[in-house]
Amino acid sequence: MAIILDGKKLRDKIFEELKTKINKMPQKPSLAVILAGNDPSSRIYVNNKKKTAEKLGINSIVIEYPSDVSQNELLKKIEELNNDENITAILVQLPLPEHIDKNTVIDAISPQKDVDGLTSYNSGKLFAGEKPYVYPCTPKGILLLLDEYNIEIEGKHAVVIGRSNLVGKPVSQMLLNRNATVTICHSKTKNLSDITKTADILISAVGKNVVGEKFIKNNCVVVDVGIFRDENGKLRGDVEFNEVSKSASYISPVPGGVGPMTIASLMLNTAELFNRSQISF
Ligand code: NAP
Repeated sequence: MAIILDGKKLRDKIFEELKTKINKMPQKPSLAVILAGNDPSSRIYVNNKKKTAEKLGINSIVIEYPSDVSQNELLKKIEELNNDENITAILVQLPLPEHIDKNTVIDAISPQKDVDGLTSYNSGKLFAGEKPYVYPCTPKGILLLLDEYNIEIEGKHAVVIGRSNLVGKPVSQMLLNRNATVTICHSKTKNLSDITKTADILISAVGKNVVGEKFIKNNCVVVDVGIFRDENGKLRGDVEFNEVSKSASYISPVPGGVGPMTIASLMLNTAELFNRSQISF
């Protein structure tokens, strides 16, 4: 039976250490979150981020806009936050309302305050194999989880299912930067299971039930990023957990795997950007 990659346990350890560090800081990091529209899941995520930040001693503000907010208004607010010395990290909650160009808005964030690591500057650094100000939260959380369990990455064949800018592409690049041999799969990939069966490490970031027991070889490390509700309203991941955990060596559960690591990485990134802002003054 596979060993569980316990994201909750590692998140709690990270929070404990972070809280102690922040407690000792004379000034505190501050995170500004922009929420546009009334997507109920986004509201829950934003509230969780705010509550978690506050528990750790991070100042947190949420700036809300109705779904008909103009792109210019968002850009103006971001400029204001970029110039505000009291704000050290900025996050734009996705998805944005459809009439807004997500990339333009994200790129308006100063790279030094881009806590999600999604601006062209930070992703450009990542894809050039250089150090961005911070790494995107979910991919960073996945790598922290693998490292916590001493899972070797160098020389391994990592297969990533999903090629989004948020998860699939950056996690693939981070694995490549750590000398894995990386294959990226997506909705047009043919014979998916033939490829996944050659994986030493399989990362699934789809949001659909795609990975069954026939998709993995023995002792594969399986990281399930996907999260969605099935037809019965049950929260689940991409991977058939019960089947796959029989032959995997390690597996991350949903919930309790990558999700907690994403919020842990967000808080780590907030603290990192703050520390760097103090050095540059
Ligand atoms: P996304 O932008 O919708 O990307 C999904 C990817 O899956 C796309 O690249 C798509 O391929 C691919 N795909 C779709 N159907 C497929 C299939 N049948 N076989 C192979 N590939 C397929 O989603 P995302 O933002 O990357 O997120 C992925 C999942 O992770 C979602 O469930 C999301 O909720 C979850 N997530 C969880 C966390 C967390 O903290 N736990 C964080 C972020 C995301 P194409 O490019 O060809 O369309």
